[in-house]
Amino acid sequence: MEQRTVGVLGAGQLGRMFVEAASRLNVQVRLLDVGDTAPAKQINYAPNAEGSGSEHVDGSFVDPQKIRQLASKVDILTIEIEHVNAQQLQQVLDEKLVDAVHPLPSTIALIQDKYAQKVHLSERGLPLADYIAVGPEEVTASSDAAVTSKAQERSVAEAGSAFGYPLMLKSRTQAYDGKGNFVVKSPEQAAEAVAALGGGKRGLYAEKWAPFEREIAVMVVRSATGEVRAYPAVETVHRDSICHTVHAPLRVPDAGVERRAREIAQQAVATFGGAGVFGVEMFQMPGGQLLINEIAPRPHNSGHYTIEATETSQYENHLRAILGMPLGSTALKVPSAAMINILGLADSDKDAEAVAKTLAPAAVSLDVPGATCHLYGKAGCRKGRKMGHITIVGQSDAQVRERLAIVDRALD
Ligand code: ATP
Ligand code: MG
Ligand code: MG
Repeated sequence: MEQRTVGVLGAGQLGRMFVEAASRLNVQVRLLDVGDTAPAKQINYAPNAEGSGSEHVDGSFVDPQKIRQLASKVDILTIEIEHVNAQQLQQVLDEKLVDAVHPLPSTIALIQDKYAQKVHLSERGLPLADYIAVGPEEVTASSDAAVTSKAQERSVAEAGSAFGYPLMLKSRTQAYDGKGNFVVKSPEQAAEAVAALGGGKRGLYAEKWAPFEREIAVMVVRSATGEVRAYPAVETVHRDSICHTVHAPLRVPDAGVERRAREIAQQAVATFGGAGVFGVEMFQMPGGQLLINEIAPRPHNSGHYTIEATETSQYENHLRAILGMPLGSTALKVPSAAMINILGLADSDKDAEAVAKTLAPAAVSLDVPGATCHLYGKAGCRKGRKMGHITIVGQSDAQVRERLAIVDRALD
């Protein structure tokens, strides 16, 4: 059905689930990441013609040469992580080494700088928490870190005067699982916050604190011609800034919230170029107002539930979108679903007890009706590392919550 080969930058768990979807449609995938045993590579056998090795590329998704090597083997490039070398993706597109890069390299570059993303969205009238630049606009390897950090500290104090405390100080780039965030509780914490976020070596910005009632996410698939389709809005629950559980669909007394969340997500995704799925994270404020937190230009943790609970998973729709196939339905096919992440509790695989505790919910889930366990095959257990997830479907929210509670109790 499809002769073109897809190349993916990154071979973690998102790439692994993408490969699962691609394999059902006989689509060939080549992966770029460090090592031969990255989660996605484990399940995608791709021997080279000599039979002496693999067609996957062993290297970093920020290395220009490795990106070029991958590009030379495939027709279409996509990503499973946004922290890639977007300039090199633009280069291989300009040189026509590939037919397309999805989403567009310019979209990836825009989104990977969370401050630039905010500017882009607010210029287009999308609702956001107030934000402000912190310190110099450009922080490069040749900037003087001491000078930058002093300027950033002064800006944090100014942000505090404008927004009050607490405020959220954020790294503009390389952020994930809350690792680029610092909650500044008073002016005295400015220096500590800047030191924690790179000590003047990284660009920063600040956001007004959002005292949200809940966090919501909406996955949106966008075709190369600009058609957008939203999945149902879901509730995401974070612990220590890491997504812990997802409940689908969103249940709130005001049904307008779900509709507005999908509308805002679609409007936001319509402003970007290129095809694929995007994850839109939002805050629901007291009174029902919705603010966009951030957008991921790829399949997203809040969309894992779509594999078991919707007519077309986020991974298959990503594949369909980037190959120009008809988009699949984003509708739920079960009345209710939930997803719980399996987060590492051990700091090394040698801590057998903590590894066993990490995997306890997975073992318990095998006896829970409606539960599907996904383990990612990650080599090393680390505290807070995403090792797997469990999706639970059921005939009602009450049934799903009951089933979820059995799995969740295994963590105690
Ligand atoms: P991800 O893993 O989703 O990419 P990230 O590291 O980019 O995360 P954010 O999504 O910016 O970080 O923030 C992580 C979490 O911190 C949010 O889900 C939310 O719970 C909290 N948070 C972020 N910004 C604010 C804010 N302005 N006010 C209050 N809480 C916030
Ligand atoms: Mg993020
Ligand atoms: Mg986030």
